Amino acid sequence: MAEIIDGNKIAKSIRSKVRLRVKTLSRPPGLAVIQLGQDPASTVYVNHKIKDCHRVNFHSEVHRLSENVSQNRVLELVDRLNNLQKIDGILLQMPTPDHIDGQAIIDTILPTKDVDGLSSANQGGLLIGRHQVTPCTPTGIIRLLDEIGLDIAGKKAVCIGRSTLVGKPVGLLLMERNATVTYCHSKTENLATETRQADILISAVGRPRMITSQMVKPDAVIIDVGINRVGQNLVGDVDFEAVEKIVSAITPVPGGVGPMTRAILLENTLRLAEPNIG
Ligand code: NAP
Repeated sequence: MAEIIDGNKIAKSIRSKVRLRVKTLSRPPGLAVIQLGQDPASTVYVNHKIKDCHRVNFHSEVHRLSENVSQNRVLELVDRLNNLQKIDGILLQMPTPDHIDGQAIIDTILPTKDVDGLSSANQGGLLIGRHQVTPCTPTGIIRLLDEIGLDIAGKKAVCIGRSTLVGKPVGLLLMERNATVTYCHSKTENLATETRQADILISAVGRPRMITSQMVKPDAVIIDVGINRVGQNLVGDVDFEAVEKIVSAITPVPGGVGPMTRAILLENTLRLAEPNIG
């Protein structure tokens, strides 16, 4: 049976370290979250992020704007937050309404306040290996691998999904740690042939239980990023019950990558705040 990687436990220990560091600072780090519209899942995620800020004594604020807000109005808000001293990190909750150009908004966040590392400047920094903070979910994944004591160097990593949010940056971070990386996506032929070679398999697709036991290598480490609602339940991209019998370690959904994303958001906010606070 596989080791079940406990994201909640690792996230808790990250929060404890952040909370201790905050005690030593002259003012609390500040995070501003912008939510456009009232998508229920986004509201839950934003509420969790704010609760986490309270847990570590950060200053936090949520700016909830209407579904129909104009691009300019959001840009004005970002400009105001860029100039607020008590705000060290700004996060645009995704997804944004169709008429909004989310990347253009993220690109107006000062790179030094771009807490999810998703601006063109920071993504470019990741590409060339010069970065201050890296995207929260991919960074959380690397931390999970470190926490289970996996030596990433030389391993074959297969990333399914090539989004800017998860797939592409996690592949870059794995390559930075000297993994040999393969990207797969919706046009990949013979997906199972690729996934069966993976020592580390990252699935960031959003299709319930698409990764079956026939698609994994025995002893692989499986990171399931997918979040899919099936009836009342949340499930990942991986057929957990079947796959856990074969592999060496696997993240559950919920309780794997999700809590790590939130913990790294706190860590990134702290990292951006430290130079401002001294
Ligand atoms: P996304 O932008 O929709 O990207 C999905 C990727 O999956 C695309 O690259 C797509 O390929 C690929 N794909 C779709 N169908 C496929 C198939 N049949 N075979 C292989 N690849 C396929 O999604 P995302 O934002 O990266 O998120 C992915 C999942 O992770 C979602 O379930 C999301 O909710 C979850 N998520 C979780 C967290 C967390 O903290 N746990 C954070 C972010 C996202 P193409 O590029 O060819 O279209």
